[in-house]
Amino acid sequence: MNQYYFTEEHELFRQSFRTFLEKEVVPNIPKWEEERRTPRSIYKRFGEMGYLGLDVPEAYGGMDLDTFYAVVFTEEMIRVNSSGFNTSIGAHSGLALKHVNAEGNEAQKQKYLVPGVKGELIGCLAITEPSGGSDVAQLKTKAVKKGEYYIVNGAKTFISNGVYSDFIVAAVRTGGEGASGVSLIIIDRDMPGVSANKLKKLGWHASDTGEIHFDDVKVPVENLLGEEGRGFPYIMQHFISERLSMALIGICQAQLALDYALKYTAEREAFGRPINKFQALRHRLAQLSAETMMNRAFVYSLYKRYEDGDYIVKEAAMAKLVGTQLSDKVCYECMRMFGGYGYMEDYPMARLLRDSQLGTIGGGTSEILCEIISKMMIDAKSYKAAV
Ligand SMILES: Cc1cc2nc3c(=O)[nH]c(=O)nc-3n(C[C@H](O)[C@H](O)[C@H](O)COP(=O)(O)OP(=O)(O)OC[C@H]3O[C@@H](n4cnc5c(N)ncnc54)[C@H](O)[C@@H]3O)c2cc1C
Repeated sequence: MNQYYFTEEHELFRQSFRTFLEKEVVPNIPKWEEERRTPRSIYKRFGEMGYLGLDVPEAYGGMDLDTFYAVVFTEEMIRVNSSGFNTSIGAHSGLALKHVNAEGNEAQKQKYLVPGVKGELIGCLAITEPSGGSDVAQLKTKAVKKGEYYIVNGAKTFISNGVYSDFIVAAVRTGGEGASGVSLIIIDRDMPGVSANKLKKLGWHASDTGEIHFDDVKVPVENLLGEEGRGFPYIMQHFISERLSMALIGICQAQLALDYALKYTAEREAFGRPINKFQALRHRLAQLSAETMMNRAFVYSLYKRYEDGDYIVKEAAMAKLVGTQLSDKVCYECMRMFGGYGYMEDYPMARLLRDSQLGTIGGGTSEILCEIISKMMIDAKSYKAAV
């Protein structure tokens, strides 16, 4: 299937990126998982290598590459087996910088995108609030215009890079009720009134997930991203790439679990023979591999449509819905093939299993995705790109 989507250049990029990860990332993952953070130094290295700006125009220090480089990037990042690390990099380049690149003006791009691509500044995207994340249109954090400033008050929670990032792309309410009152604004970490605390969580250990508080924060009006009141459609349009990415991550995690299980079941013996000779396990591996491969083909086809400019809201929701559920199922089944070792931290399945669980929650829960799909399928609702 690869030959339909990836050129020789993509594969060369894959090889060099894999070598880089094996040398500079893989040996450090246990430490970063333990420390509950990804160090700034590795963002700098990613920046030096050009990995933080794959789709950013060259004028801002990016590489301006096609979407399938991003696919290769994600596939290789997942092989490292640390969703916390993957999220630390992804929340910066795939969420925060994506908004600055798409909706930012020239001054904002010079101030945040250029150093962001170099890994000198780290960003996060803060939408979810303690009172709710699924219903984005009801968010409560207020930004009230007073002269040359917005005065921001409120709180965000579960934010990836929420503690150690330098700037926050925050969704705030600048207007009245509902979606049309939402705007995006860039808030610097060192502005007086910004504070954060780190949250303890089941998985994604190398990522600093934070709760952020805004207490009378004076944010210059020039930090507004795009137009006032357009925050909701800006957020929604980037959900397509986020959901495609999370679908791909799910499938890659499933494949990684299968790779681990295929190796382990070939080596482990029970009743005098390798356990991969037992039909119960062979058929399970065959079934899960078939489902994973079919889903990968669907996701690749969607990336192609996305690259061609199709606004694939429903299909991206479908891909994330099924891809993340598949990941949970395959990781669980493969963990069980390791017997007791599957439950041990010294083996890779424990981390993979707990990291997988976030897939069906972040970037739109499975229930919210079913809502979107059913509204489009049953009520003939349609969505259009914001910019
Ligand atoms: C580790 C981690 C990292 C995250 N990173 C970020 C980040 O970087 N930035 C950010 O903004 N957010 C982030 N999130 C937040 C994430 O996007 C939200 O947790 C998610 O959108 C769900 O919101 P909620 O937790 O408030 O759940 P709620 O919205 O309260 O939902 C609770 C339950 O109700 C269900 N539900 C809600 N509405 C409906 C409905 N209409 N029909 C049926 N069921 C419904 C949901 O599916 C869910 O099961 C992160 C979360 C975690 C755990």
